[in-house]
Amino acid sequence: MIFADAHAHTNPLKGLGAKTVSKRFRESGGWFIALVSLPPTSLGLNPSPEGFERSIELVISECRAAREAGLRVVCLGGYHPAMIDKMIDKLGMKPEDAYRSSIKIIDLACTYIEKGLLHGIAEVGRPHYQVKPHYVVLAEMVLDYALTRAKDLGAIVHLHLEEGGWITAKDIEDRIRRIGISKDKVAMHHAKPGLLEHAISMGIPATVPAIYQVIQIASKHQGFYMFESDYIDDPARPGKVLYPWEISENTLKAVKEGFLNEEAIYKIHVENIARFYRVEPP
Ligand SMILES: [Zn+2]
Ligand SMILES: [Zn+2]
Repeated sequence: MIFADAHAHTNPLKGLGAKTVSKRFRESGGWFIALVSLPPTSLGLNPSPEGFERSIELVISECRAAREAGLRVVCLGGYHPAMIDKMIDKLGMKPEDAYRSSIKIIDLACTYIEKGLLHGIAEVGRPHYQVKPHYVVLAEMVLDYALTRAKDLGAIVHLHLEEGGWITAKDIEDRIRRIGISKDKVAMHHAKPGLLEHAISMGIPATVPAIYQVIQIASKHQGFYMFESDYIDDPARPGKVLYPWEISENTLKAVKEGFLNEEAIYKIHVENIARFYRVEPP
């Protein structure tokens, strides 16, 4: 059995970094990882275009390290909706300036996609915690812009969303249709049961945090979903959300306890990964 991590972050400045993480993941049976740039504030940087540029450069070198450690790697980055309130409330930007800066950051990510250094934009969408209502509007303006640019570039997008169940999924389905990007290119990241079943019924790919209790519930559903660690590689919050190798451990535990069979595992860890990320399985 081989395992994939559909969404993880590594921090080469403060954390274990991609080299160590990839080595341990490979030893646990890992074959694929999608590495996503960290929000600049996690790297001690400002959420400015310069801060994002540095975080993109870092994820690109982390992707190289993960490849050298023997994994197949897809590299994503460029944005995070949790940066909107940081821009406005911490940096003191006017909302219109935060919007303009965000658009610049999406454009910056797109130049890396055009050069073949990034495979897609992550993470765009809405904050998952309470913010002022117009910050959500701003986040949605950036989301639509990112989906439009990704459509033109044929790139993939990871969505970071609130846990709003059907409402969250239906809004995304409508947005995807309105903008005209292929559903196969857009994944709802951190989709837990409650949102996952709606993503599945609407045919929108999802990445599911491979927490054991979540796997137990997710295993009741068949569909276009993958497992993720959403590892943040922050020494202040060790093992959050999961270590990538815990995806392997929890998947094996689910097999042992009869929640998943080998066929289901092959679909989650190989077929769906190959289909979404367009990578060749080993
Ligand atoms: Zn996220
Ligand atoms: Zn993430």
